[in-house]
Amino acid sequence: MNQLVERIADLPILSLLHQRDGRLTRELLQHPTGYGLGQLPDAVRPNATTNMVCGFCSTGCGLRIHLQDGEAVSLSPLTSYPVNLGMACPKGWEALSVLDAPDRATTPLLKNTRDQLEPVSWDTALQTFTGRMKAIQAKHGPHSVAFLSTGQIPTEEMAYLGALAKFGMGMLHGDGNTRQCMATSVVAYKQAFGFDAPPYTYADFEESDALVFAGSNPCIAHPIMWERVMRNRRSPEIVVIDPRMTETAMYATQHLAIKPKSDQALFYGAARILFEKGWVDRKFIEVSTEGIEAFEAFVAPFDLPRVVAETGLKAEQIERFAETIHDRERVSFWWTMGVNQSYQGVRTAQAIINLALMTGNIGRPGTGANSITGQCNAMGSRLFSNTTNLLGGHDFANAAHREKVAGILGIDAARIPSEGSWSYNEIMEGILRDRIKGLWVVCTNTAHSWINQGFAREMLERLDFLVVQDMYHTTETARMADLVLPAAGWGEKEGTFINSERRFGVLKKVRRAPGEALADFHIFQLIAHYWGCADLFTRWTSPAAVFEIMKACSRGQPCDFSGMQDYRWIDERGGVQWPCPAADSGAAPDPTQERRLFEDGRFYTPSGRAKLLFEEPRPMPEPPTAAYPYILLTGRGTASQWHTQTRTAKSAVLRKLYPEQAFVEINPADARGLNVRPNEWVTVESQRGRMQAMAVLTPAVQRGQVFIPMHYEETNQLTDAVFDPYSKQPSYKACAVRIVRRP
Ligand code: SF4
Repeated sequence: MNQLVERIADLPILSLLHQRDGRLTRELLQHPTGYGLGQLPDAVRPNATTNMVCGFCSTGCGLRIHLQDGEAVSLSPLTSYPVNLGMACPKGWEALSVLDAPDRATTPLLKNTRDQLEPVSWDTALQTFTGRMKAIQAKHGPHSVAFLSTGQIPTEEMAYLGALAKFGMGMLHGDGNTRQCMATSVVAYKQAFGFDAPPYTYADFEESDALVFAGSNPCIAHPIMWERVMRNRRSPEIVVIDPRMTETAMYATQHLAIKPKSDQALFYGAARILFEKGWVDRKFIEVSTEGIEAFEAFVAPFDLPRVVAETGLKAEQIERFAETIHDRERVSFWWTMGVNQSYQGVRTAQAIINLALMTGNIGRPGTGANSITGQCNAMGSRLFSNTTNLLGGHDFANAAHREKVAGILGIDAARIPSEGSWSYNEIMEGILRDRIKGLWVVCTNTAHSWINQGFAREMLERLDFLVVQDMYHTTETARMADLVLPAAGWGEKEGTFINSERRFGVLKKVRRAPGEALADFHIFQLIAHYWGCADLFTRWTSPAAVFEIMKACSRGQPCDFSGMQDYRWIDERGGVQWPCPAADSGAAPDPTQERRLFEDGRFYTPSGRAKLLFEEPRPMPEPPTAAYPYILLTGRGTASQWHTQTRTAKSAVLRKLYPEQAFVEINPADARGLNVRPNEWVTVESQRGRMQAMAVLTPAVQRGQVFIPMHYEETNQLTDAVFDPYSKQPSYKACAVRIVRRP
């Protein structure tokens, strides 16, 4: 590496900052490929390959990046990586192409007096950022500015953002878009296991005798995980619980096409049968759980007639489901957004956890109560975003935890708030109540993805100052911003992601960010300096340095990864799952490269036992009516689309693999009643908004239900802003709509 890289990588970034004359940013912009990768020499050879993890979904596939003159020119899936074993989905194959989009943010943009965004220097942008945020705080109090973050940036950047905002800038409120996908699982695990700890490893897909997928469509949402299921040689029973005949349901040996949101009743009904027949693991229950008697009494009223009525299933289907759980030696339960994005998501997830616990299906190969997460680094966000949890899965309300983290960071513990943040919906409501006046949105697209989108945009418009930090200046949210900070994306910076099975994977810089775009990490460093709190972050010199801080924060926690030496060490092992305490530091690469939690039957609760938690199912907040007779289901459209399509829409290849226009799936019988023909444009309306969509007639949706993919900008015009009471996760999956033929 040349001298400049060594200089920046070593620390002098902060000593350069005081000049505020643009010299720092010029030097950052000029740094060559391989910046900061001193530990990874193969990454800086001009014509070579290097390995890194994908930056779309939580599967965390390993990719081999092919370099030419030091820049990535192509990629291929890694055959040696224990996650994907040589496979990648279309998004992974196209990961580089989306970096070249013409709408990349290449310079800071500031709204002028004509309400138009125009390019400004970094110095102007940062002075504006700090000046206006501080003015808001001076007028409305320190908690009147907040941030919304993401599950898409490296863990080191999340940690920096959370620490900067809360310990440096005096914010109390900040949340992530992971609230929209994973909050339910986090709360369900914390309450049941004592820590947010998905217990599984991907080998469990291959080692199960029965796999139960609830509200989960891995065929398109997690296609490489589904490929792992296809490698299962145990002739597994595959049970899919979903109102729709999804792509995954088509492969199921049992498809339980329940009424929307009746899964909680189904799980309680199955538990009742298991108790009744004595199909429970009494030894495991006695040693490793608490609350079994109360749970058995609670499910007694969930007899077959009741569960049949509530789920719409036949009695034989429910009985066969319970028999499958009993008959098969290794049963694994998997859930995703069909469970999480619900007004009763936490208790539904815990109903699944209860089935696993009462039958001893946890801690053994091919078992587990397994939440599959969504974004590439949702798991990093869950541990290090510093929002509802203090860094490293600690508790803001715990004085000993604050002291510990403050000691590691070398700051006064009084700087650490003694309470967690408002959740995303509470921050949005705070805008409505004029409690939040300034908002910093980092790598997420609120104006598209937040529930009841029309109202969400009204809330954003009420802000005094909206800053968007993103790769693209054209997102729906960036277009509303007062200030846009141009950020580098995946492949243009370094750090670590944590995938669904708790595996750390390394992200490397293999491309230059375009124009003046900077890694989020560097933007945070600059803001710390301009804000005047850089002295708190003198050790936060590089992602690798922050990784060391994170390791120290994790020590003694269930997620302890203090035994991971450095990025190279992780790389050599094909990624490493937490926990990895100091005792594992000297371990040779593990040939199986897989490990699961709770093999000893001990959990992270004070008693060491898992808790069986339950609650009466709640009524659907907005059931269908005569005026709005259909239940709207939303979800992933294809394997080629990703969330708000900020990136996937930029790939010509991916665009060919999904319908460009929004579509709505309607049951053919309903379509006949509506006199709607195939491929006809219709209007879908809820009480909150309307959208145009092309009618796709398919028996995959049941009568009285329609389905629209979540990726289209208009979809959240319809959704209803209700939330799970424990996780505050939005309930995207069920609201009432009507179909109107276009005149
Ligand atoms: Fe990337 Fe996920 Fe596709 Fe793997 S499955 S290539 S991690 S998007």
